[in-house]
Order: sequence, then structure tokens, then C-alpha cells
Amino acid sequence: MIRQLRRAKILSTVGPASQDPATLRALVEAGSDGIRINFAHAGHEEAAPIIAQVRDLARELARPLAVLVDLQGPRVRVGPLSSPIRVVKGETYRFVPTDDTDRETAADADSPTAGTIPTTYAGLASSVEPGRRLLLDDGSLAFEALGADGQALEACALTDGVIQAHKGINLPGVNVETPFVTDKDRRDLDFARSQHIDFVGLSFVQRARDVELAREVVGGEGLVIAKVEKDQALKELEEIIRLSDGVMVARGDLGVELPFEEVPMVQKRIIALGQELARPVITATQMLESMTQQSRPTRAEVSDVAHALLDGTDVVMLSAETAVGRYPVEAVQAMDRIIRRIESQTTPRSRARRVGSERSSVQQSSSAAISAAAVEAVERLDASCIVTLTRSGFTARVVASQRPPVPILAVTDQWRTYNQLSLVWGVHPLLFRGEAAYDGMRDHAKTEIRRLELGRSGDRFVVTAGVPFHVQGTTNMMRIEQL
Ligand code: PEP
Repeated sequence: MIRQLRRAKILSTVGPASQDPATLRALVEAGSDGIRINFAHAGHEEAAPIIAQVRDLARELARPLAVLVDLQGPRVRVGPLSSPIRVVKGETYRFVPTDDTDRETAADADSPTAGTIPTTYAGLASSVEPGRRLLLDDGSLAFEALGADGQALEACALTDGVIQAHKGINLPGVNVETPFVTDKDRRDLDFARSQHIDFVGLSFVQRARDVELAREVVGGEGLVIAKVEKDQALKELEEIIRLSDGVMVARGDLGVELPFEEVPMVQKRIIALGQELARPVITATQMLESMTQQSRPTRAEVSDVAHALLDGTDVVMLSAETAVGRYPVEAVQAMDRIIRRIESQTTPRSRARRVGSERSSVQQSSSAAISAAAVEAVERLDASCIVTLTRSGFTARVVASQRPPVPILAVTDQWRTYNQLSLVWGVHPLLFRGEAAYDGMRDHAKTEIRRLELGRSGDRFVVTAGVPFHVQGTTNMMRIEQL
């Protein structure tokens, strides 16, 4: 029986519950394919040793591990407060801009005047029309905008509750007019570049232009993942995904910005588009939320993970479960179990047959045509795997988007590509240390196919590549080889 490797990948957020070396190692050993550091919470002093240990683990365990840093982005927040504000339903409050656009440097303010709530968004009063909702703290507190009074926005509380400093404010249906890359993001990016991270997560993308701007700042140092968490982003979804290298269904904020019942179908739409455009999709937030407190997931959570896999997600992400939960390692183990079980009972639905109805430029490119032909060849020849020879990872991502039924061994001579490909569905990255030329890379793949028990002597495998290797974005060659 030929072995099958796990196809969907696991991304684990590292935080106070998992950043000690023993737990971090256990997260990796339990099956995390990458780790995420959220700059909305973590500082550089915390992030640097985590990244260093992940790099060491990748070398020691001879396996790829991706590092994704998540930028805080232009999140609208409550400003600093010296003590929490009690809110009474039916009362009117004034949201007043403060200078605290940057939590790292802000000192906590004096008590604001009774009935005023400081906010980090200077344009709140001018951009929120009367009747719009302001949702605080993941939607647990709601206000209805009444109108502007100079710089302040007056709003009526729709719920009782308590406001804590720095909590997020979601503004469904509102175009937030702030620079997409904040000063804090720029500092975080400088740090991230110095650490050679693999992926940058862009929070609160609203427009395709936001991705273009962020790309200019990232400057090719890491692949860019657009987090879809604003309802506004859905209007330009296809363009946002096309301009990114990958996309995240950031269900936490998305489920506040949108009525929560909208989220499942939006998740399916994002995953389908990601596959069509050959952009890996990360499905995130509250996947195994109860495991922050319990050692076993609820049946509904198991089912949610299963459905994300059946929708075709590349990656499932753990957030609070691994960052601050009581059972971080058990959460990764649970993910691994669910994925393996679902994959053992399902066969990927190859895209080669679906493409007739898809007219996207990516699916009509020669790269996708060759990748689809490779999948077709695998099926006809009963080949054991697909080998992609890739420098930037592009070829492997396009092949993966065709959802072949066999493993994709991605042979690369680039350390960063090797790590980045660990977050792509179905791809098993291999680092090649010799001269990047066809024969040597193919022979390396042969050795690995045998070592991984993916094929027997005489089995055929299909090779795709973009030749010459140093030119990115072309997949122009397919060959059938034999073990
Ligand atoms: C989300 O909102 O689902 C999300 C992933 O964003 P963050 O965890 O950065 O708030």
C-alpha cells in the first residue's frame, strides 16, 4: 500500500501559551506546518526568539516550517482608558478621536469626560452615517450612530456592557479612510524583513489598492496574504485575491462585520476563488475554540474543520487555541486527526475536469494547462506522484490548485520557497542543495519518493517545471519519468 501524506496544512498562532521552547517544539512535533505571530499582540522582543527557534527546528527536524507575521493593520479601536466605561442601553455616548493610533507608544489617558469614548479613528464622525452600527469587542457591545457633532460621533447604546481600553471597533458597511499601512505596520515590517519571514498577513484589507500599497512596502520580502475580514473587501474580492499570494478567511472579524449567518457561504466563495486563482486559502478563527478550556473539541467544531476541508481549504488555522489556550498541543493533535480522517475517506476533486466553466486568466494560462495535463497524466498512468521543480514556488502552487489525487513533491533550491510551500495543500517541499538543473533535481526526487514510500520501482511519476528555473511565473514543461 502506497503511503499518502497529509494534504491540508495546519497553521498555529504562537502566544503566551506556546512561546516557551518546549511547547513550541511540541506544536511542531504535533503537526504544525507553520506558525503565526500576531503583531496586534506580540512585540519584536517576543517574536525574535520564536522565529529563531522555528528556524532551528526546521533544520533539526529536516522539514519545512513557515513563519507568518500578521500586521495589526488599520484596525479601529477604543483609545486608552484609565478605567473601563460602563455603558447603559438607551443612553447617548460621544466617540471622540484621540491621538492614540499606536498602542506601542501610547500612554494611558486620564479618565475621559463622562459619556465620551475615545477612539483611534480620527475620521469616525465624518465616515459613519446616522443609522450605521458600531460594534465593540467582537460585537458584544453595539451602538447606533446618531450623527456628527464636530469631530465627535454621537451614538446610542443598543446594549448594556463595559468598554475596556483598546478593544476593536467594527464598522459594518463603512469605508474606513485611514492609510492602509500604518506607522506601526511599517516598523513591524522592517523587523519582519530583518527576520526573513515567509508570509505577511494584511489585516483589514478593504480594496484591491490596499494590497498593491502593502506589496510596495513589503517589497518582495515574503508572500502577501490578504485577510478578508471587512464586508467592504467582498466587493473587490476577486481582484484582492488576484493581487495577493494567498488569502485568509478571517472569520473572527468577518463574522462581526457581516451577519454571522453569511460567513459559511462567504467562506465557500473565498475558497473556490482561491483555488481558481491558484492562491492558497487559510481558514481561520474559532475552529476549535472550546479547546482554549477543554482538552477535547466539540462535535460542532470537528464538523466545522471537516467542512472547511471539504470546501477545499489549503490550511486550517488555530488562533486563541494555541496562543492563549490551556491545551495548545492537544488542539494541533486534534486538527491533525480530523484532517487525516477526512482525507482518508475522500478523494480530491481534480480541477482538470472543472475548468470548462472557469474562464479566469489563471486557469487559462499555459501554467495551469500544463498542470492540468500533469493531473490528467497521473490519472491515466496511475502515477505515484507529481514532482515540481520550482524556484519561486509558483509551479507548485499552480499544480496544487488543480487538486491532484497524488502527493506533489516540490523540489526547490530556495530555503524560503521550501518553507513557504509548507502552507500549500498537497505539497511536500524538498530542499535541493546541488546545482538547479533538471537531472539532479529529478534524481533527488526519486530518492525521496523511495524514502517516503510514495512509489515502487517501475512506478511512473510526472514532472513539471518552469525552465529556465530563474524565470519566475512560467510552467512550461512536463515529462513522464520512471522510478
Ligand atoms: C480574524 O479576525 O478571524 C483574524 C484571523 O484576525 P486576528 O486574529 O488578527 O484578529
